Amino acid sequence: MARVLTVKHINRCIACYSCMLACTRTVSGRFSLAASAIQIRTRGGLQSKLAADVCLGCAEPACAAACPPEALRPRPGGGVRFARSQCDGCGACVAACIARVIRMDPEDSRPIVCVQCGACAKYCPHEVLEMAAVSEGGE
Ligand code: SF4
Ligand code: SF4
Repeated sequence: MARVLTVKHINRCIACYSCMLACTRTVSGRFSLAASAIQIRTRGGLQSKLAADVCLGCAEPACAAACPPEALRPRPGGGVRFARSQCDGCGACVAACIARVIRMDPEDSRPIVCVQCGACAKYCPHEVLEMAAVSEGGE
């Protein structure tokens, strides 16, 4: 059974950024919040509640469809696989992402893309995030 990252209990989030650091260490090998595919942010306003910007794990990812060199390809169960060596840095995926969660990494002009590895969920101390089971069709 495939699994896709899901924000389960955002009200439990304490903005410790463990998820973001787990992501950036796992995926990019760096220790930089800016390089994390998941972003925890305040929603603003007087109450300043928190929000998590995450890849939706689309069954038919628009980012992959928009990628001319096919560096992004659909992942079985939802989301994408990313072949960094094939990416030419055109940024088409950034414009195509329906959740607007893909950003270009200024350090190497390549996109910061969630690969649905689950490291963020594993290191969240409050079970805010979950790798939820989905059918291979991504439903
Ligand atoms: S599932 Fe993996 S790549 Fe995606 S946000 Fe979490 S740690 Fe980063
Ligand atoms: S690890 Fe969990 S509690 Fe910490 S910032 Fe991320 S989602 Fe929030």
